[in-house]
Amino acid sequence: MQPARAADTAPLFETIAVSKSFGGFKALDDVSFHVRDGEFVSIVGPNGAGKTTLVNIVTGLLRPTAGEVRFHGRDIAGIGPVELARLGMARSFQLVNIFPALTVRETLGVAVASRLRRVGNPFRSLRRDERLQADAARIAEVLGLRPRLDTVASTLSQGEKKLLDIASAFALDPSVILLDEPTSGVSTADKHAIMEVLVTAAKVAGVRAIVQVEHDMDLVERYSHRIVALQEGRVLADMPPDAFFADPAMIAAVVGTRPQILKGRPDA
Ligand code: ADP
Ligand code: MG
Repeated sequence: MQPARAADTAPLFETIAVSKSFGGFKALDDVSFHVRDGEFVSIVGPNGAGKTTLVNIVTGLLRPTAGEVRFHGRDIAGIGPVELARLGMARSFQLVNIFPALTVRETLGVAVASRLRRVGNPFRSLRRDERLQADAARIAEVLGLRPRLDTVASTLSQGEKKLLDIASAFALDPSVILLDEPTSGVSTADKHAIMEVLVTAAKVAGVRAIVQVEHDMDLVERYSHRIVALQEGRVLADMPPDAFFADPAMIAAVVGTRPQILKGRPDA
């Protein structure tokens, strides 16, 4: 995936001056944010900065208190995740959102059935429907879960659960994918493996942009074309990784540590 140059394309999606209040508390304040074709964008910031709220607004799960949300130029504020998936946007959740009793094949089959608008009992369809079977197997293959097709989700490793959650988003055949902390709760080695699988899968599946919320700064630096840093609901920075990581104060604001702690970074 290579980002299009700024002048070449309109954003795939954007928020324009979005604010979101919960009661008297302003979780997002005047956030303008966009993603272009080919981009891998990381949203970073300390706990409570508003990252998940922004993802929820961009994916139509929450309606902004003020401002606009556009996908392919169309106002999608509060449209809801099902309708948005039909337009080509899919997401995974910060806390994995899988059904523990279903196998990998069943989980992906249900997602594919919803994309194909198969009505009725998706499990009966899955047994009978070769298209569903083939699609579920293809997506498992792309996300490295083929050997686990008949494994019950609850017995997968944490890394495999994360991949299954991501695979369910891929099953919707999206053009844009948003991932809320795709590697949280897994080992450093597994984090890198998940990111490699994700980036390769996006190429194979023709995903045009990836947005992730991520805390691991090594992953952010390695994979992002652009970093959007939130602090107390506002955009603190929106810049390429080389500019971001050249600024110790910026890193400190985002990670919530003092700059000298970062001296241990291999390239700091
Ligand atoms: P992050 O993902 O960056 O850690 P969130 O977007 O989850 O932050 O939350 C931002 C702020 O908004 C936090 O202070 C959180 O407590 C608050 N918040 C989020 N969702 C709600 C909600 N549904 N009701 C009330 N407050 C909320
Ligand atoms: Mg969050």
